[in-house]
Amino acid sequence: MPVRRWHAELAVVGDDVHGDVLIEADGERLTAVSAGADRPRGAERLPGLTLPGLANAHSHAFHRMLRGRTDDVAQGTFWTWRQKMYAVAERLDPDGYFELARAVFAEMALAGVTAVGEFHYLHHRAGGGRYDDPNAMGLALAAAADAAGVRLTLLDTCYLQGGVDGRPLDGVQLRFGDQDADRWADRVGALRPGRRLVIGAAIHGVRAVPLPAMDVVGRWAADRDVPLHLHLSEQRAENAACLAVHGCTPTALLASLGVLRAGTTAVHATHLTDGDISLLGGTRTGVCLCPTTERNLADGVGPAARLACAGSTLSLGSDSNAVIDLFEEARAVELDERLVTEERGHHRPADLLRAATAGGMAALGWDAGVLGAGRLADFVTVGLGSPRMAGLRPPWAIGHLVFGATAADVTDVVVGGERVVAGGRHLSLGDVGRRLRSAIAQIDAAG
Ligand SMILES: [Zn+2]
Repeated sequence: MPVRRWHAELAVVGDDVHGDVLIEADGERLTAVSAGADRPRGAERLPGLTLPGLANAHSHAFHRMLRGRTDDVAQGTFWTWRQKMYAVAERLDPDGYFELARAVFAEMALAGVTAVGEFHYLHHRAGGGRYDDPNAMGLALAAAADAAGVRLTLLDTCYLQGGVDGRPLDGVQLRFGDQDADRWADRVGALRPGRRLVIGAAIHGVRAVPLPAMDVVGRWAADRDVPLHLHLSEQRAENAACLAVHGCTPTALLASLGVLRAGTTAVHATHLTDGDISLLGGTRTGVCLCPTTERNLADGVGPAARLACAGSTLSLGSDSNAVIDLFEEARAVELDERLVTEERGHHRPADLLRAATAGGMAALGWDAGVLGAGRLADFVTVGLGSPRMAGLRPPWAIGHLVFGATAADVTDVVVGGERVVAGGRHLSLGDVGRRLRSAIAQIDAAG
């Protein structure tokens, strides 16, 4: 790939916004980022505010099917929502999953996401039988991300039991299971990483994986130095069941197995004790917050500021994809804590933006999320032409971005030095709304 240059009207470099920033890349990586530079001949103009590529550190692509379809009842809990989610999971095959995931990842690209962590547990046929290639569903996700132009960290998820008490998988859950951790490792071991594909591991949670199997998955990820993610204390019921069976919190249980460490990311971490917060921060375990999903599912509000103070790197995820907007996730972290504490100012805007960029990229195993020489050339431009963005200027530019921008303000997206989105249009997939409509209609028809 030739050397390429872009000239940004404004760009986030470090924690500050600078004007006239020349961004240079050679192939996949940035070679120089210089503020206050004239635009050389041939450099592409980037009008607006350019920032590092956004990382969506926790996604279940197929949950996008449920958007707007689970919000029309007066009553309901996480558990009633889960029944509706299972009804969708029942209907997917590798072809339908590819079509849906390609459109969902394209929706993410339009929102400025350059890397996504897909927490993937829909492995096998309905009933649990294997496809001819037992990784057919994971490979469908990899092909979908490639077609959508985003980096994928495939967090292949171990899911072996139906509850902390060890009850077997039942119904649609049979699709998720590999029978034991060794068979999980054999299957995942056949997946090969690629230029824009990281193969990581996940433990669905303490509910779904017995202790010896958690140990196997934890070691598998540590031996390969790849990301390990796990759902943690999203629901109080999970904590209660863990206390009843193991006599400790899920966090303490994971700590006793050595699973908590830098390189591990706990997703949600909503209902924690003071001791849990110390364990997560003290081990430098990352925490991925998914506030639009957590509020949608009535999960609660986690102690994000205390976790960050304790030493956890924060990242953000769209999780159920009820909303795909990393700016909304970022501001919700602060705004939710304001509601709970009746105080403002828990997170600096630059720290919230860092969770959406460098924090998430680190959780997913990508050397991106910072505009700096040597880093992957992933960046995103937010247009300043909308009424929402009117008046944005330093020194308040990052606050205006985080608290005022929406996914619809993203105009341009570059991944690894290649433009994926220009002028708000996905260059290779065109009409992403049409693709989503078509994929959703096909899966509806299969139901
Ligand atoms: Zn999740």
